[in-house]
Amino acid sequence: MIPVTKPFLPPIAGYNKYLEGIWKRQWLTNMGPLASDLEMRLKNHLSVNHLLFVTNGTVALQMAIKALDLKGEIITTPFSFVATTSSIVWEGCKPIFVDINKDSLNIDPNKIEEAITENTSAILATHVYGNPCDVSAIEKIAKKHNLKVIYDGAHAFGVQVSGKSIFDYGDLSICSLHATKLYHSIEGGLIITKDATLLKKIAYMRNFGFDGPEAFAELGLNGKNSEFHAAMGLVNLDFIQEIHDNRKKIVERYDEKLKNYKGIKQLWHINGTQNYAYYPIVVESEELLHKCIDTLTLNEIFVRRYFYPSLSKVLPYLESVEMPITEDIAKRVMCLPLFHDLTLEEVDLICRLLLRIQNN
Ligand SMILES: *Cc1c(COP(=O)(O)O)cnc(C)c1O
Repeated sequence: MIPVTKPFLPPIAGYNKYLEGIWKRQWLTNMGPLASDLEMRLKNHLSVNHLLFVTNGTVALQMAIKALDLKGEIITTPFSFVATTSSIVWEGCKPIFVDINKDSLNIDPNKIEEAITENTSAILATHVYGNPCDVSAIEKIAKKHNLKVIYDGAHAFGVQVSGKSIFDYGDLSICSLHATKLYHSIEGGLIITKDATLLKKIAYMRNFGFDGPEAFAELGLNGKNSEFHAAMGLVNLDFIQEIHDNRKKIVERYDEKLKNYKGIKQLWHINGTQNYAYYPIVVESEELLHKCIDTLTLNEIFVRRYFYPSLSKVLPYLESVEMPITEDIAKRVMCLPLFHDLTLEEVDLICRLLLRIQNN
């Protein structure tokens, strides 16, 4: 059986060592030493100045919207995970969908301006599969119309654009450290911003708004994460280079074997580095996609229709709107198996089956 993804688990000895420390200190959560250590090491690893380790990527998005005090309409992409849109609604704002570019699969900056109204307060865009958005075009539009920019970088751990961390763009970025992501702390999320004042505000928010034991600085919630999650993050960080190298080899093998495959491959940002988080392909038709899924499933190989369906059509709490490019891509896209210890022989088998189905 080949699953579409598999969480990375480090050798258990490394994790046990951290557990012994936790037992000794008896400090389980609430910004403990491991959580602080993880924040420091991640700042270093990602080359960013300010970062907070929080409960998960979704709470990170919610705190981001709250901290920037966003109101009214937020322009966003329908081609993302549901949390991108649901966080906007959860914070009492209205998501306004803008269709994607068919090559980058990210929000199309050329369509953003026509969606801006006097009620627009921000743009919330996803770096889809880790591919950086057109950050300079989005920045230009945001400046011109005085809008805030949040990036959902849940897929984009470790990616750089023009030599800078992708998380340094926009007013604020979030990342998810969920077990299914490239780098994980079982559950977890990050908030990254260049703005120290904003970060301080979110640090209060993360801890119920407490400013000392008896005073409050902000409206807050419980956005903290535990020492056990931080420990997994710390151990996994020691393996990040190895994970990266393995995934790179796998992706290059897919590229080589599928070079004659008729389908669309995502067009990567010209100045962006890759993190090999996903291997999406867009096949010629939905019919062909079903054939692929059926045949692969018979061979116990599992792919995922990710993202499907388009968020502009499926959410019961939103009116459905036409987003032709997203709907077309969502019907034809699948992510192929990709995880640290997928073998090249398994990749070859998957590619052989895909080519055979296409040529039949
Ligand atoms: C995973 C994911 C999230 C949510 O992150 P969690 O840590 O699972 O809450 C948000 N946006 C995107 C694009 C994601 O893939």
